[in-house]
Amino acid sequence: MGYDISHVIDGQEVVGTGSTQPIMNPATGEEVGTLQLGDASTVDRAVQVAVAAQKQWQQVSLAKRTQILYRMRELVIAATDEIAEVITREHGKTLGDAKGEIARGLETLEFATSITQDLKGGFSQNVSTGVDAHTLRQPLGVVAGITPFNFPAMVPFWMHPIAIGTGNAFILKPSERDPSASNIVARLYREAGLPDGVFQVVHGGKSVVDALCTHDGISGVSFVGSTPIAKHVHQTASAAGKRVQALGGANNHAVVMPDANIEFAASQVASGAFGSAGERCMAVPVAVTVGDAHEAFLEAIKAEAEKLVVGPGANPETDMPPVITPDAKARVIRMTDEAEAAGATIVVDGRGLVVEGHENGNFVGPTVITDLAADHPTYTEEVFGPVLVVMHVNNFDEAVELVNSSPFGNGTAIFTDSGHYARRFEDEIQVGMIGINVPIPTPVGYYSFGGWKDSLFGEHHAHGPEGVGFYTRQKAVTTRWPSQNETVESSMSFPTHD
Ligand code: NAD
Repeated sequence: MGYDISHVIDGQEVVGTGSTQPIMNPATGEEVGTLQLGDASTVDRAVQVAVAAQKQWQQVSLAKRTQILYRMRELVIAATDEIAEVITREHGKTLGDAKGEIARGLETLEFATSITQDLKGGFSQNVSTGVDAHTLRQPLGVVAGITPFNFPAMVPFWMHPIAIGTGNAFILKPSERDPSASNIVARLYREAGLPDGVFQVVHGGKSVVDALCTHDGISGVSFVGSTPIAKHVHQTASAAGKRVQALGGANNHAVVMPDANIEFAASQVASGAFGSAGERCMAVPVAVTVGDAHEAFLEAIKAEAEKLVVGPGANPETDMPPVITPDAKARVIRMTDEAEAAGATIVVDGRGLVVEGHENGNFVGPTVITDLAADHPTYTEEVFGPVLVVMHVNNFDEAVELVNSSPFGNGTAIFTDSGHYARRFEDEIQVGMIGINVPIPTPVGYYSFGGWKDSLFGEHHAHGPEGVGFYTRQKAVTTRWPSQNETVESSMSFPTHD
């Protein structure tokens, strides 16, 4: 029933291998479409096309490449409503949030329109007598992107504009749960004038991912998703000799100091904890209250959570949408049950919420939990739902120790009025992205995005300058132009400079 989503190979929609998967609407529980699934043979077909297309694309001038990216920017802006609508239908998030992720994805596209700057090499004249040196950056070749359900537009945009701008061909394997946005992007690239085969989409699950990680024609793999799969992709693709960046899961902590503006901190933590039903890798599922901040923060966050309107993402009055699947909803309820059974206090209880007219949707209300032991899985693991655990510590040093004890290191924030503690936090915390009175410190497109520890495997962060580094290889060239009658004696010594 509904619409059919198939692979986009060589500019054409291509049906799969026969196996399919339903595409569901999380707000209604209804099947809205059917996704064609690929396998290793689909990947092979796309790679053959990409290899041929990339050879030509690498020779296209920087001027023409960036003109296409400029046109793509205008087309994405014009198609924002269309893309946001399919994201809300398949992912569930609010239309405003969907438009927000498209805007944040556009930042990387805008960065890529000035890729000419980042591809400039260095040049040194006369490094030795009559000898010059210069460097240049060249594309890897064919690269793949494997992306999660929670940002069906923004996360792929972290990858493809830079990969394409630097001269690679890109094969996208989006999440099976919300695949339609990627096919719209493929259509827009075509309209922008990108040659067929430079951007392709292959849909599927593990067999497609594993084929992308091991295919000889692919030189680099960018992955964003959960930590176990990030590790698997990093190990499999690295063992196959590819360059890999694999961004994993998160369990981000926001520290609330006693000197903070508590009302401000609570409203910011609420947006981090409950925005997009907590299904963001930069969500804030843990608040760490320091000393006297605890009681006042609990009262303020309870008020914030209780005023949120939970409903379908397409309703303009909705603050918090459903979670992605019935399983995700069951996980949130189970982890809340387990915390309660372990003696935790459920300050705000999202279990049992029913949205009228949407009884089959995956809705769960905002939940706030406190008095939980620091080794309880509801605190230590990624719940990936609208659950905020409030941990209480006595002082700043204990807060730093707690944040650093997490195996994840994606994002963190401190709410304080003290420059002294903010500066120490920035220095001592073992996390890749830090917010000072900012709850979701997602770097802008011309910086790079990435965590530490179990939140990122590989050397390079995503997008920005590190994205250019990831999708290119450097060459260093040493040049000498002797005159026709110049002679030198041959020497067997290692060359030194004079
Ligand atoms: P996921 O790991 O289940 O899926 C990510 C991708 O891997 C999908 O394309 C999926 O098809 C594929 N995949 C799933 N299981 C696989 C398997 N067994 N073998 C090979 N491939 C497989 O993640 P998700 O549920 O789609 O997304 C949520 C997760 O992503 C959360 O953990 C979240 O923190 C994380 N995330 C991280 C970042 C970041 O920047 N660090 C950003 C967004 C999301």
